[in-house]
Amino acid sequence: MDAHLYLFFHILSHALLGAAIFYILLPEGTWVQRIASVFIGGLSGIAPDLLGGRDSQPWTHSLLFAPLVVLWIALIAKLLLRKVSFWRWWGASTASAIGGHLFLDYMGHDIPLLYPFSDKLLIMEALTLGDPWVWFPLAAGLLLAICLKRKTKFPVLLAVIFVLLYCVYKIIVKSIIYQEVEARYPVGEISYITVTPNTYYEFPIDPRTWLKFKYRTISSHHSQMGEAGYWGEKLGSSDWHHFYPEKQEVIFLRGEYTLKLRNNDEDPFLIVVSKEWVEDGYHYIEGTFDDKTYLYKEITPGKWDEVEQN
Ligand SMILES: [Zn+2]
Ligand SMILES: [Zn+2]
Repeated sequence: MDAHLYLFFHILSHALLGAAIFYILLPEGTWVQRIASVFIGGLSGIAPDLLGGRDSQPWTHSLLFAPLVVLWIALIAKLLLRKVSFWRWWGASTASAIGGHLFLDYMGHDIPLLYPFSDKLLIMEALTLGDPWVWFPLAAGLLLAICLKRKTKFPVLLAVIFVLLYCVYKIIVKSIIYQEVEARYPVGEISYITVTPNTYYEFPIDPRTWLKFKYRTISSHHSQMGEAGYWGEKLGSSDWHHFYPEKQEVIFLRGEYTLKLRNNDEDPFLIVVSKEWVEDGYHYIEGTFDDKTYLYKEITPGKWDEVEQN
């Protein structure tokens, strides 16, 4: 159970959502035509990754270039099944690439959607790519469609609607947790919050695990993280609070805020906070580093001094 499974189900999700969108947009036709459209749609769903990664070839994951990315697929489809017009093949392939690939990637990780107008990497990060709540209903819907005699688009449409609602649900929960984290962990300096799916390295079998979130707050002196649970009920139960006595630079990297290490080969000095309090208007932090206890006091906003203990 490892990263390979995530990758496999990530790619499968693109193929299935691409195939489902494609299936809805094309005439139902005979059994052979239906299977062909599932395969061509699946191919359109993974097309952006077939032409290159989003890092080295940003155009493959751009909205503007999506019709170009699938042009070859539409041409092959037209050669195989001449009854359907080329424009319909091309339109359905483009919709599959955008809905089945770019949309899902955006829900999971950073992508250059607006390239070449902007190099900015856009990210929602409300889903883990490989999530069974996405691929399982789609697989079931498409399988039913192939087996049914009539109204074969209906189960596919239902599955796509389910996936869309699931994405909306995840976005809403993410924003609820975000607001709770903001209220719960006030920081006296500019801080950034990320709320992301709580994924582990193993591929969880229990579908409920995929609904959970984790959070992280980061600022130039603090980094705090922990589980958030389904909708924030776990906040405070497993928090890790790291304190950096010396001011660190917060940078935005790959859709996430992180600390820029001063010397690349050296980790900054950090204290694992065990206690935090305010006394006589001063903020104090106590914690450990390498089994040694330290006490720090905020002399002026953003400036911390060690308090010698005896
Ligand atoms: Zn991709
Ligand atoms: Zn992807």
